[in-house]
Amino acid sequence: MDVTGKLLLFCGPSGSGKTTIAHHLLKKFHQLAFSVSATTRPKRESETDGVDYHFISPEEFRRKIEANEFVEWEEVYKDRYYGTLKSEIEKIWKDDKVAVFDVDVEGGLKIKSIFGERLLSVFVMPPSVDELHLRLKARNSETPESYQARIAKSEHELTYAFRFDKVIINSELDEALKNAEKIIAEFLGIK
Ligand code: 5GP
Repeated sequence: MDVTGKLLLFCGPSGSGKTTIAHHLLKKFHQLAFSVSATTRPKRESETDGVDYHFISPEEFRRKIEANEFVEWEEVYKDRYYGTLKSEIEKIWKDDKVAVFDVDVEGGLKIKSIFGERLLSVFVMPPSVDELHLRLKARNSETPESYQARIAKSEHELTYAFRFDKVIINSELDEALKNAEKIIAEFLGIK
């Protein structure tokens, strides 16, 4: 099966479960490879540099912007920059794999407009705004300010769901994972 040049995009508000779903699929389908973004936000304890993100300084991030090394980049939260590196996609395609992106909605729409038909875009929805608040709180990874910023951005992002090829409602995680597996198998042409 030829998957050359294909891409898979996951978007959805912080707390929707998109990262959990993307990581599950990456384990399940050997054809997929995660595009590791660069960011200036501090590393969380659970994260590994070079695996979850390339954690870099604001100076290094600016240098990469000037050197045109990003497909897209965004100041997702104040003073917190995130960007998709061209080198990641090139590396993944060289390995004959499908590049998987986990980015915010603005960045996702940019990626979508660049790659068009070769890309499947998936939006992960929480079952409700209340549930989204609870999940973000339970994650306990944020300061009160960044928690508030994430809530505000999340609610805004929900309004973009209709722009994506597929929407997965993550109410019961097991069900959402099965649904996601089905969608990806179809995209990869696996019977
Ligand atoms: P977190 O700090 O929770 O890891 O990510 C915050 C937000 O930034 C999430 O919505 C995540 O998907 C998004 N993000 C991660 N990498 C990128 C990227 O390369 N570009 C853009 N535009 N957003 C990203």
